Amino acid sequence: MIPYLSIVIPVYNEEPNIQRLFDRLYPVMKGIGKPFEIIFTDDGSRDRSLELLKGLAAAYPEVRVVEFNGNFGQHMAIMAAFEISRGEIVITLDADLQNPPEEIPKLISAMEQGHDVVGSIRQHRQDSFFRKTASQLVNITTRKMTGMKMSDYGCMLRAYHRNVVDNINRCGEQTTFIPALAQTFAANPGEVEVAHAERLEGESKYSFYSLIRLNFDLMTGFSVVPLQLFALMGILTSLFAVAFAIFLLVRRFIVGSEVEGVFTLFAILFFFLGITIFGIGIVGEYVGRIYQEVRSRPRFVIRRVHGADND
Ligand code: UDP
Ligand code: MG
Repeated sequence: MIPYLSIVIPVYNEEPNIQRLFDRLYPVMKGIGKPFEIIFTDDGSRDRSLELLKGLAAAYPEVRVVEFNGNFGQHMAIMAAFEISRGEIVITLDADLQNPPEEIPKLISAMEQGHDVVGSIRQHRQDSFFRKTASQLVNITTRKMTGMKMSDYGCMLRAYHRNVVDNINRCGEQTTFIPALAQTFAANPGEVEVAHAERLEGESKYSFYSLIRLNFDLMTGFSVVPLQLFALMGILTSLFAVAFAIFLLVRRFIVGSEVEGVFTLFAILFFFLGITIFGIGIVGEYVGRIYQEVRSRPRFVIRRVHGADND
């Protein structure tokens, strides 16, 4: 039977959470009373996650597991599951129970009211102060830069209509940020408020460094505003330099040439040097991504798909 709902869950070293997640998710899905499938992607876990997932796939006909050949990241894990998903409505969710499965019916009813993408806003977000502040910053700048109206980019509890998922599947980008990508295809996006819990077991799979990488993916993948800002800043600095030169010239005629304040000049110089290096870095981010796309290597490698139809 073709499922109506597809649940997509990326898993990376979530051994202690898998069974408890499933124990809460499965009754919710049964309770909805529509045919469904649950697709886990094992993103190269080094603990027993894959084994547990294979066990679920063997025991429940609704469960399928994509086994990755290595760690390709959360968004690639979701992409791979999207490609084999069949549901009319596809819902993504984290494996660490930060997104309560009990909220799924809320997303579905919003979808059934005619939205083609339903995002979620985390109420009383249970993350560190640092993560919350950083997120707010990212949300605001992304909204400004991309012009997309989304309240909470980071929350992965989201629902997508089949059309949107099909379009995402056609993209084949090497680096991406799924909620933003979906937003570009959404004709009628909606949002609901959902609860948010602390990570059940284990630690966040994102280090400070990988969070920065992910945010560059979001910024550079959906906007060229950073590049444009640098062009603009270049023009402003040149104008300023011309004004400064004129000022020095006039000053030379009135009070004579200046020698003091050399170090002030250094400070100003270093400031602009810093901006220039930052600018080159941003150009590098784009060039690096263009290079990745041009090589067009596979974005992820699936070793095997486990589950009802594939064994
Ligand atoms: N995840 C993944 N691959 C990765 C990193 C994370 O599949 O390389 C999964 C992880 O198992 C979890 C989800 O993505 O289901 C969100 O990760 P996490 O909870 O660590 O992120 P946070 O909540 O700290 O943003
Ligand atoms: Mg989490």
